[in-house]
Amino acid sequence: MVGPATGRIVVTSRIVVLGGGFGGMYAARALKRRLGRAAEIELVNAENYFVFQPLLPEVGAGSITPAHAVSPLRFLLRDVFVRKATVDSVDFDRRLVTVFQGVQRRPTEIGYDHLVIALGQAADLSKMPGLEEHALTMRTLEDARRLRAHVIGQLEHAQITRLPEVKRGALTFCVVGGGFSGIETAGEMKDLIDRSLKFYPDIAPSEVRMIVVEFADRILGEMSPGLADYATRTLRERGIEVKLGTGVASATGTQLVTTTGEVIDTRTIVATIGNAPSPVVRRMGLPSERGRISVDRTLAVKGRSDVWALGDCALIALKDAPQGPRDYAPPTAQFAVREAEQLAENIASTLTGGTPQPFDYRSKGALASLGARKGVAQVFGLELKGFPAWLLWRFYYLAFLPGLTTRIFVLLNWFMDGISPRSVVQLHTRSVPPTRYVRYRAGDVIYEAGNRSDGFYTVVTGAVEMTRTDPETGLPQVRTIGPGGHFGERLILGATRRQTSVRAAEDTKVLVMDREEFLKLADSFQAFRDYFGPYMARHGMTWPPLGETDGQAAPKPVPTEKD
Ligand SMILES: Cc1cc2nc3c(=O)[nH]c(=O)nc-3n(C[C@H](O)[C@H](O)[C@H](O)COP(=O)(O)OP(=O)(O)OC[C@H]3O[C@@H](n4cnc5c(N)ncnc54)[C@H](O)[C@@H]3O)c2cc1C
Repeated sequence: MVGPATGRIVVTSRIVVLGGGFGGMYAARALKRRLGRAAEIELVNAENYFVFQPLLPEVGAGSITPAHAVSPLRFLLRDVFVRKATVDSVDFDRRLVTVFQGVQRRPTEIGYDHLVIALGQAADLSKMPGLEEHALTMRTLEDARRLRAHVIGQLEHAQITRLPEVKRGALTFCVVGGGFSGIETAGEMKDLIDRSLKFYPDIAPSEVRMIVVEFADRILGEMSPGLADYATRTLRERGIEVKLGTGVASATGTQLVTTTGEVIDTRTIVATIGNAPSPVVRRMGLPSERGRISVDRTLAVKGRSDVWALGDCALIALKDAPQGPRDYAPPTAQFAVREAEQLAENIASTLTGGTPQPFDYRSKGALASLGARKGVAQVFGLELKGFPAWLLWRFYYLAFLPGLTTRIFVLLNWFMDGISPRSVVQLHTRSVPPTRYVRYRAGDVIYEAGNRSDGFYTVVTGAVEMTRTDPETGLPQVRTIGPGGHFGERLILGATRRQTSVRAAEDTKVLVMDREEFLKLADSFQAFRDYFGPYMARHGMTWPPLGETDGQAAPKPVPTEKD
């Protein structure tokens, strides 16, 4: 592949980069710049755009339009082959990556000579009961859009509800995690709410609660204690409660219980914690430590000379014998971009018979926006607070944004946000999946007689108590339903109102399926139809024949003799 004697590449190499975030996109760019036509470079990413994650809290707060916090990968990587596809697996012996692509999600194999893994991390919230089911996250563009729509939805609801407890829950916003993304998200959300309240005359500012829950005894662990104290004070002055030394014990759709035993009525939990390896990286079976791929200091995966990893998914030692977490590259964009440069240089050296060099970089500092034009910054040993730090934050990220067009758009967004009110348009995003797990604490009402029939429920763990008023005696009849049992079947019959009331008899997890989903299953799955056949017969209904349902197997009355 190379002519070591001349030190020049004589045959084209194929380099495949998995992931188009800070690590992957910058690595592909640097590789192309270094290797030019001597290498064929392909980048695979799930979306066709690069997301500038530091701006996501501002997208969530509506000061930047979603399309302006991203750039098309094809613009940023003109001479790189970009493939929009989902990486499924890698066969390291055969040097083949399998991806799913296109509308039909066809498996396709891609060969490589060198593989670069930059797939970032995923969130694992499963350790705290209920968090996975009920928390919003802040990692993707879709997360940010969903958060904004959700916050505006809560304001709309609080404005019109007549129930004080519902209003209280709707106006309580919790952010879990006091790192950069948690603090910036809380600060920006507070901005959005404060600036929107003038459109909601029945909400008093004193009714809004914004809470940050942080397990450590301070926020912004990457910054000096002085700046972290300043940030805490500033957030508190802005009316944001910062609960230190406090974790999440459990969560439901209406409550968050802290490790200190406090029960907070809330319909908004944003979790910015729980970094975990993404499932695809876990499936690769590469050597890993602390949930990240183990690489040597040249960024080559330990034990392999043709596989490299960088960014959040890689554990990169900064010294030869690391002692603690600070001796590893932190999962930040600042580091991922520097790692990309080193990695490209090392692959180029490998191809030309040179010696790859160890990654060596020291953080130049850290910046965080606290919202309301305040921030904290620690740059080149200098500490800045308040407005100057916030201004620096904006300039730094503007300069960091890839692509001139994106920079101009972001600048325009900031300018317009400075001179005009925040929009409270609630664009529709699907915030609740049609089939989902929901947790309830003992005593929680799941639904009441008269409520709209909106889902079919299966008990996964725990138990529920169903109460029905006997039409003849007028007395309540109570039935307990445990794991494997189900309730809410009336929606099969097209019923619009509940006839029973159901509450959790103990801490309970249920699977809820919307009517449309339920009927889709009934559309094609004979065993499913058979199971509900007796129930339907008792109510004088039957399924239409298979194949005559037009996608929605809505049940029909059993034909009578008259018919
Ligand atoms: C809200 C927020 C704010 C932040 N603020 C800052 C900040 O101010 N400063 C800072 O330095 N860092 C910040 N960070 C951290 C920074 O964004 C990350 O460290 C950086 O993005 C890591 O780059 P990466 O390439 O490793 O991963 P990512 O940028 O996450 O990229 C991973 C890419 O892989 C793709 N992918 C994943 N799985 C698959 C698959 N199976 N198939 C195909 N594609 C896949 C994803 O779509 C994504 O494009 C912030 C992060 C967040 C979430």
